[in-house]
Parts: sequence; C-alpha cells; structure tokens
Amino acid sequence: MLSLAGVTVRFGDRKAPRTALDAVDLEIAEHEIVCVLGPSGSGKSTLLRVVAGLQDVDGGRVSLDGADQAGVPVHRRGVGLMFQDHQLFPQRDVGGNVAFGLRMRGVSRDEQARRVEELLDLVGLPGARGRAVSSLSGGEQQRVALARALAPRPRLLMLDEPLGQLDRSLRERLVVELRGLFGRLGTTVLAVTHDQGEAFALADRVVVMRDGRIAQTGTPLEVWQRPASAFVARFLGFDNVVPATVSGAFADTPWGRISVPAGSAQGAVTLLVRPGGVRLSPAPDPAAGLRCTVEARTFRGSRVVVVLRPDAVPVPVPLPLLEAECDVREAPLEGAEVGVTFAVEDVMVLAPAG
Ligand code: ADP
Ligand code: MG
Repeated sequence: MLSLAGVTVRFGDRKAPRTALDAVDLEIAEHEIVCVLGPSGSGKSTLLRVVAGLQDVDGGRVSLDGADQAGVPVHRRGVGLMFQDHQLFPQRDVGGNVAFGLRMRGVSRDEQARRVEELLDLVGLPGARGRAVSSLSGGEQQRVALARALAPRPRLLMLDEPLGQLDRSLRERLVVELRGLFGRLGTTVLAVTHDQGEAFALADRVVVMRDGRIAQTGTPLEVWQRPASAFVARFLGFDNVVPATVSGAFADTPWGRISVPAGSAQGAVTLLVRPGGVRLSPAPDPAAGLRCTVEARTFRGSRVVVVLRPDAVPVPVPLPLLEAECDVREAPLEGAEVGVTFAVEDVMVLAPAG
C-alpha cells in the first residue's frame, strides 16, 4: 500500500548538510500496523512528513497504492496525520474538531453529524459532541484527535508519538485500545515513537531507526528476541552488551569465558546476555563463577533488577557492569558478594561486531 524507495532528506546548507533520512526503503501492506521506533532526532517525524507530503525529498520515491506521490499535494494523498500534541482547535467544540476534515471535503451537514456520533462512540466518548476542548482531560483530547484523524476514512493513518504526553498507566491502556480499534476498522497505520513499550504493544511490525537509517525490521517478538546490533539491543534496554570473540561453543568476554548457543557466529562479535540468564549464587564458592558485588537493586513488579560490579582482580581495568533479573525473594542485598554464571539460552551473539 505504502512504499518508500531510497527516500533521502537533507537539512542545512550545502556545506554542512544534515541527513535526516538516508536512503530509507519501507513497505507497508494494507491493514498492517507498522511502528517506527527510534531515539529523538533519528528522523521519525521527517519520515511521516514525507509520506504526508509536508516535506520534499532530496532523493527517492513515495508511492501509495502504486502511484508515485511526487507533486501530489497533502490533501489529495488520503492520509490522516495525528501529531504528538493533539493540536485540537481550542475555539471549536469536540464535534467541530472531529468534523473538521469532513467539512474541508464538503461533506453534507447531516452526514457530518452522523459520522461525528459514530466516531465519538468508536473512541469511547459517546455524547461528547458539544463539550469544550478545554474541559477534556489529556486522554480525552487524545481520543478526540484520533476521531478527527479517522473521520475522513484515510487510507493510511499516521501517528506521531500519539501517546507521548499521557501518563504511563493511561498510555498502557490506550495503546491496547488503539490496537483493538485499528484491528476492527482494518486501518493501515504508520506510527512513530521513541517509546519501545508503545511500539511493541501497538505494532504488527517494528522498524528501528538510527540516524535516518533503518537499523532493524521485524515483528515485536523477532526484534525483542534477536536485536540486530548493539545499538538496537541497548535501545531496547538491554545493558549486558559487550564485545566478545567466539570460538566454537565458547566466547571470550570481559566477564570471562562463557558458553554460547550452537550455531552462533564465530570471531569478533557483539554479545548480549539477557538479565534473566545471569544466575547468582552466594559467594564464596569455587564453582560460583565470576565474583561480583551487588551495587544497586531496582524493583520492577515482582522482579528485581540487580546491578553487579565484577570484582576487578586480577584485571587492571574496570569490567562492564552486569544486570541480573531475579525473583524478589531471591534478590541479594546491596553490598552482597555473589558468584555469577550465565545461562547459555540467554546468551545471544549479535553478529558482527559493532
Ligand atoms: P525525530 O522525529 O525522530 O525526533 P526528526 O525527523 O524530527 O526526528 O528530525 C531528524 C533530524 O532532522 C534532526 O537532526 C532534526 O534536527 C533535523 N530536522 C528536522 N526538521 C528540520 C528542519 N525543518 N530544519 C532543519 N533540521 C531539521
Ligand atoms: Mg519527532
């Protein structure tokens, strides 16, 4: 449905150009929910603006349903765009906001009213038509903005950090609602966010961006289980990422020699250990593995993430810290001395190094 081929956008003057999008290729199928995930400045908003026709490209092509969009103005592309900060019209009531796109298209008043009611039901705000925008909570404003974007039945709905301003619990609830809603409507969605939780909960497919390039594409499960690079792994919140050298079934790492899964890439690699696979045992015990001191503990629900500082002897340079995830009841106290071993199924070789 949507196809980007080699899309490139540069900002700044010719002497010091900044590449916001660097030869981006991306395909989105009808009914698919794709979420672009990346840190601030990675080019996410620019990507949406290009598809919407709000930003010219320096190279490449955007097609919708097979038609090249070069020269097609914003209002003829049939895309809906919802920005981070809702941008509702404060002087119009809820109904006036939702009907905006319909009015622009010359839809009759009766049809506008019908469609507004239908959409407000859909987003969980039945009967809110006459309310003032200023009387709405952040979550309600977000729903109105969504209803407004959906009203003209866009063939592609684009969301820019749609839940960014809302508090966490509301965000977590809304993202599940949104996914259900888009599924029922069969909406094709291109969303962008810097929040991995949001991306993973919303998307059929996640596209990780870094500096205007696509770093990885896959289902949430694929990306989560197999980050393509140290960058992606760290961006997803994995901290146990180190350079290593793999030879056969073992890797030499800053934390010592550890087993790697069969079939792992050989040679110089980046290696990841999931925190759940960092096993702790009370030291001293000759078989306890790498000796570490517990530096900090963070509660995450019923689990505790323990930050471990490997004891420096006999290595002269500080070793990278380790994160272990354990059950609340088993988590050692700050300052405790523990031995660390690694569960091979939680060791992942991300090839190649870099
Ligand atoms: P994101 O949405 O991922 O935070 P953006 O697409 O907004 O990233 O920006 C990508 C890069 O392009 C950034 O370095 C940003 O400063 C730059 N940029 C974006 N818009 C403009 C603009 N209108 N003029 C100059 N630089 C811009
Ligand atoms: Mg942005």
